[in-house]
Amino acid sequence: MSAPQLPGHPHVHYQQDQLQVEGCDLGELASLHGTPLFVYSKASMLDALAAYQRGFAGRNARVCYAMKANSSLAILQLFAKAGCGFDIVSGGELARVLAAGAQADKVIFSGVGKTRTEMAVALKAGIGCFNVESEAEIDVLNEVALGLNLQAPISIRVNPNVDPKTHPYISTGLKGNKFGIAHERTLMTYQRAAALPGLKVVGIDCHIGSQITEETPYLDAMDRMLDLVESIEAAGIPIHHIDFGGGLGINYNGDTPPAADALWHKLLVKLDARGFGQRQLMIEPGRSLVGNAGVCVTEVLYMKPGEQKNFCIVDAAMNDLPRPAMYQAFHTIVPLQYSPAQPSTEVFDVVGPVCESGDWIGHDRALAVKAGDRLAVLSAGAYCMSMSSNYNSRSKAAEILVDGTNSHLIRQRDEFADQIRGEKLL
Ligand SMILES: *Cc1c(COP(=O)(O)O)cnc(C)c1O
Repeated sequence: MSAPQLPGHPHVHYQQDQLQVEGCDLGELASLHGTPLFVYSKASMLDALAAYQRGFAGRNARVCYAMKANSSLAILQLFAKAGCGFDIVSGGELARVLAAGAQADKVIFSGVGKTRTEMAVALKAGIGCFNVESEAEIDVLNEVALGLNLQAPISIRVNPNVDPKTHPYISTGLKGNKFGIAHERTLMTYQRAAALPGLKVVGIDCHIGSQITEETPYLDAMDRMLDLVESIEAAGIPIHHIDFGGGLGINYNGDTPPAADALWHKLLVKLDARGFGQRQLMIEPGRSLVGNAGVCVTEVLYMKPGEQKNFCIVDAAMNDLPRPAMYQAFHTIVPLQYSPAQPSTEVFDVVGPVCESGDWIGHDRALAVKAGDRLAVLSAGAYCMSMSSNYNSRSKAAEILVDGTNSHLIRQRDEFADQIRGEKLL
């Protein structure tokens, strides 16, 4: 038997039965830097971006990387150099992306709870657009801008009431969600915003959810958005750009999302047919740019057979990989060393050391492992490190960016001093 292919992970593969990311051996990286360890493929990120760029070739379009998916500085720098703008959701993300060398005017600021301080900092930095999410926020942003003698460029985030057919926690464009302004109130809200001197309407935006694996929700949302643009412009308010959000899924477990270029080919046909093909377009992909570029390498600490379940206890946990605990998410788990002799496998729950029953990484996985072996948790590039915490006073993992046969340490493992910085004894 030869080592399995890993579909959906083009730069993660077995080379003589050892798992590699591009030309770097993961076992060697783990020995050098310890575990748990995040390892990312630069080529995978740039390939994912290139699929969008191909899809938009010849159009007036901008990819704004939704940096909450993975906000490590070197990754932001990589996307900034590749020409991306950024979708941010906090003042912290603004500071981070500017520290990574991004241009402020290519930054768009989303999120339902922007504070006055965050608004002021973003206005002074000269960001490209605020994606406003409520009528109350419109008034506050107007006030803050007038106080600074500035005008805030805005688009209104519309809730198109389209079902993205994904997990409820990552669906954002349905009526019951906290995001955006209801479709029916959109025109009215645009008219109010256009009358305020501290605001300048520049666009419209939506984002219907995450890990979307079908094209229909995008096509439906686009129709609803274009209907709105027509009615807003008929009311005399020009819409310079249309932002279709992010949300395209990746292959975690046999998922088959459309390729970014194929999806956008279809969407552009619709845009052209409706006469919007030359409009400035924005998109905000996060997961689909980084998710399958990353793996998390972990070491098996103990095998713990039980009456009802066997447990494989590893040194990565829910503080490193929060997605299973948060949304019962699936990550493929494979050994770093493939054994062609096909030793007998058993079924295990792969769990971490954190004192919570919710601390699991994979349920019912068939593995042939023993203590001391190393495993790779795949699809760990998005919403893992950026969601990680110090729960159980665990230190945050280190991160490596691989570029061919070179590897760069882009985040050193936290030391204990990093954890208690800012804390004071009585
Ligand atoms: C999270 C988010 C995105 C990115 O979503 P992905 O599923 O990672 O592509 C884009 N836009 C907004 C407003 C978001 O909140």
